[in-house]
Amino acid sequence: MHSAEDVMATVHPTMVDWEPPVGPAQRIEVSGEQLYGRACVRCGCQLDGLMDSGYVYTTTTAGARLPWPVKACPHHTVQGAA
Ligand SMILES: [Zn+2]
Repeated sequence: MHSAEDVMATVHPTMVDWEPPVGPAQRIEVSGEQLYGRACVRCGCQLDGLMDSGYVYTTTTAGARLPWPVKACPHHTVQGAA
């Protein structure tokens, strides 16, 4: 399920700080698809109806923090009731 070699062939999992619309920031690992908002930031699925779900922040080699707007699927959208 989690073969580093398979994953690295297509994406680059990155540890990021995720600031969801509700609740505290979390340290999570995201793929390129998640970082670019093409997959749910929580589960990585690509369902229709992905919704804005805060920002993740990567740190460049120069130490700058870059914000990336991310999406969540309807199951993981954190607005309103769970
Ligand atoms: Zn999800």
